[in-house]
Amino acid sequence: MPLVLSDVPTPRYSDGVTQYYPTVYKAARAPAGGYVECHPSRVRKYLDRLSASLKDIYIRNPTKIPGIQPELLRAGESIVFRGNSGLLEFPKNYKMFESKKPEGLGGGETPGVGTPGGGESPMLGPKEGAGEDPESDAVLTKLEQGDGDGKQAKTPKGESRFRADAFIFGHPSGSKYRSTNEFTPHLEWLVTDDTHDHKNCPCKLCTNFTRSGR
Ligand SMILES: [Zn+2]
Repeated sequence: MPLVLSDVPTPRYSDGVTQYYPTVYKAARAPAGGYVECHPSRVRKYLDRLSASLKDIYIRNPTKIPGIQPELLRAGESIVFRGNSGLLEFPKNYKMFESKKPEGLGGGETPGVGTPGGGESPMLGPKEGAGEDPESDAVLTKLEQGDGDGKQAKTPKGESRFRADAFIFGHPSGSKYRSTNEFTPHLEWLVTDDTHDHKNCPCKLCTNFTRSGR
């Protein structure tokens, strides 16, 4: 009878610290490049990806699973994770933030497109109407290409486009992980290395950290 686990426990040990978290803005007020709280659905997605790796790590290192009695393992029990089991949270003090950057030129806010009279200068009026301003044509073309449609600019009005990059903060070097792939080796180290010596961690951040003299 294998031991069936219904969730993927967070590693016992964490080296995470909160002191290098970024300044967090309310989403609506974040300046370009400013950090906001990561959307919960995105956090869930990252945790799911990490769960998959962590299950493998635990299956290879069953004695490191929090809450598993060593006697059971000694008796030869194998470990199985329930299909929908997942990691509920990051190792202590690791946390996701995302930084929003306007995409492209911010063309979505081109004034006067589709709205009567930009109201800025009467001289611009006729030009806009005739669509002869070479500059605005260039902008329109770019936007239209994105929509795959040829004629009128159907820019989503008032909605600027953002690209939000997510990062995992908490590493004691103050650096951040840019993806779950970058974080996975560190996760394995958190689980498996009893010495808690960053020199033994192959992740990118620890490698830079120890090379810089720590
Ligand atoms: Zn590491």
